[in-house]
Amino acid sequence: MNQGWKASRREFVMLACAASFSPASSRLNAAESQEEPPAGSRSANADEALRQLLAGNHRFTTGEPLTPRRSPQEFRSLAHGQFPEAVIVSCADSRVAPEILFDVGVGDIFVVRVAGNVIDGAGASVKGSIEYAVAELNVPLIVVLGHSGCGAVKAAIQHLNDKDSLPGSINGLVDLIRPAVAQSKGLAGDPLENAIRQNVAIGVERLRRLEPILAPRVKEGKVKVVGGVYDLSTGGVTLNRK
Ligand SMILES: [Zn+2]
Repeated sequence: MNQGWKASRREFVMLACAASFSPASSRLNAAESQEEPPAGSRSANADEALRQLLAGNHRFTTGEPLTPRRSPQEFRSLAHGQFPEAVIVSCADSRVAPEILFDVGVGDIFVVRVAGNVIDGAGASVKGSIEYAVAELNVPLIVVLGHSGCGAVKAAIQHLNDKDSLPGSINGLVDLIRPAVAQSKGLAGDPLENAIRQNVAIGVERLRRLEPILAPRVKEGKVKVVGGVYDLSTGGVTLNRK
């Protein structure tokens, strides 16, 4: 991500670390209570955060990752507070590793992973995690990230009309993806790819309208929600059109 921003953020958390010997330090208190870091020490807005994520993904796909912020000194300095610049809502699939595919480090992104990157109907654990990042950590950008060949979406296509075909809670999970399959039916192109894109689009729309935390911030332009799909073959992320 933006190295200048990261440097200033690092300076902030390291200052907070150093100040831990002084109980009166307001900087430490700010870091511990997850308050906004001083002006200039966080990414300015969602567009810049997105630009940095896509730049990191480009480095990943071209085999030139920087693999930033993984040293003991760097993760120790973050022990007093976190200031991620984006929420990534992605599938639990083992091949979709957000920190790696966006070439970011510890503390850079707030990741919520659930099979099929489902949001609507997924309950308080998923929505509450995202809301926490926005309300408490002031994260300006949310990326709903689907991926090619998603098994959860495949299952929803295969079992669209077969309610009892999947064991345990898998059926309930796949149920949440069925609307995406139904809405993308008949579109030109590959049915699985279309359903994956539509599943992401449904998640994006759900978050943009999610009251009371996200919707007003989206309306005021303080938070941006975008969707994208990660290609398992190329490593590239392509954004949804809207
Ligand atoms: Zn998946």
